Amino acid sequence: MKLTVLGYFGGYPFDGHGTTSYLLQENGYNLLIDCGSNTVNNLSKVIDPLQLDGVIISHYHHDHIADLGVLQYYWQLNNGKKKVDILPIYGNTQDPLNYGSLTLEKVTVGKSYSDLAPLEIGPFKIEFLRTIHPVPTYAMRITNGKKILTFTADTDYFDDLVDFSMNSNLLITDTNFDKQKTGIKWHMTSVESAKLANDSNSEVLLLSHLPQEINHNQLLKEAKAIKKTGKVFLASDALSVEL
Ligand code: ZN
Repeated sequence: MKLTVLGYFGGYPFDGHGTTSYLLQENGYNLLIDCGSNTVNNLSKVIDPLQLDGVIISHYHHDHIADLGVLQYYWQLNNGKKKVDILPIYGNTQDPLNYGSLTLEKVTVGKSYSDLAPLEIGPFKIEFLRTIHPVPTYAMRITNGKKILTFTADTDYFDDLVDFSMNSNLLITDTNFDKQKTGIKWHMTSVESAKLANDSNSEVLLLSHLPQEINHNQLLKEAKAIKKTGKVFLASDALSVEL
C-alpha cells in the first residue's frame, strides 16, 4: 500500500500547508484518511477526488474535517465520472450532529465504525482504539493482509497504544510537542512518538500533526535520538511512503 501526505499541521493551516489528511492506496482502491484544510487541492494533484472509494475520519475536530464540506460539494457539483455512485464517509456516531453531516443526500453517505469490531472496506481491515483526546477520537490500525499501518490520530501518550501499534511497518504519530512539554496535554511529544515506535517494534516512524511554533527539525532530531532502529521522517506535502 502507498500512503501520501496531503496535510500535516495540527490545529490550523500554516505557511501554505494544510492540516491532517492522507491518501492511502492499494490495488486501485483510494481511501482518504481525515480531511483537513487544503485536502481537496492537494488530493487533486494526486488523483481526481471523484476517484475516491471512501473517506474515514478519526474525529470531528475542525483541523481533521475542514475540507469535508467542500469535498462533498466537489462530488455534488463536478460533472466528472465518479468511481462510486455515493461516496461512503466513515466516522464515529458519538457526536450525532457531526456524524449526520457526513451524509449529503445522493452524494455522500455516513457510515459508522466502532472499536468493538474491525471495519472491512475494499482491501483494508481497520481496527480502532479510543484515544486520549477531548472528543471521541480513534486511532486506526490498517492492514492489507501483508503490511500494517498504524495512525495514532490525535492523542496523548498511553500504554495501550503500544499493543495496538505492534509490528507496524509504518507508524504515523501525533507529534505536536517537543520533549520539553509537560503537564496536561492532548498530543504526544517527539520523545513519546519515538518511544512508542521502539516499544511497538514499528519500522518507519512518520511524525505528523506538527506544530507551527517549534522547529520541525528539532522534533526530528529528538525522535531520532530515541528511536533504536528503522527510519524517522517528518510529514510534508506530497511525501509518499510505499509499504
Ligand atoms: Zn484533535
